[in-house]
Amino acid sequence: MGKKRLTDEERRAHQREHDRRYRQRPEARAAKSRYQQSPEGREVARRSRLRYLAKPGIRERNRAYARNQYKKPEILKRRRSTLLKQYKISLEDYTAFLAKQGGVYAICRKPETMRNGSHGRIQALSVDHDHVTDQLRGLLCNRCNTLVGKVEDQSGLLRQAAEYLERFMAAVTSR
Ligand SMILES: [Zn+2]
Repeated sequence: MGKKRLTDEERRAHQREHDRRYRQRPEARAAKSRYQQSPEGREVARRSRLRYLAKPGIRERNRAYARNQYKKPEILKRRRSTLLKQYKISLEDYTAFLAKQGGVYAICRKPETMRNGSHGRIQALSVDHDHVTDQLRGLLCNRCNTLVGKVEDQSGLLRQAAEYLERFMAAVTSR
C-alpha cells in the first residue's frame, strides 16, 4: 500500500527533473533574464567569467584559438578586402611594407602580433598615410597612429612633449 521508498539517487534525479521543467517555464525564464540584466546578476556573471579565465590554461587556449582564427582563409579574405577598401593597399603591399619596417610597427617598434589586452586578438593594424600627398607613410599600432594623427601638422609639438616628459622624469630621479 505505501509508496515505494526512493533511494537517495532516485530522489536527486527526481529533483533534477523537477528543476529542469521549472526552468523551462516562461515565468522562470523571464525571471532569470531579469536577474541576469540586473546589476547583481551582471556582477555575478562578471565574477564567474573572471574565475573561468583564471583557470590554468584557459587564457592560453583562447589565445591559440584567436591566432588560428586569424589564419583562416575567410578571415584573410576579410583582411584583404579591409586593406583595399579602407587603406587602398593590397595584402602583398602590406606584407612588403611590414618587411621593409623590419616586421615591427614604425614608431614603437613592437611586432605586428601585438595583442589586445582584453580579448587577446591581434590588434587591428593602422595604415598611416600622409594626408596631403596620400602616400603610404608606414604601418603603426593603434596607439601610435592616434598619436600621429593628433600632431600630424606640428611634429615639433611631439618633440616638445617628449622634452616636457623627460624634464619631469629627470626631476623625479634627481630628487
Ligand atoms: Zn606603436
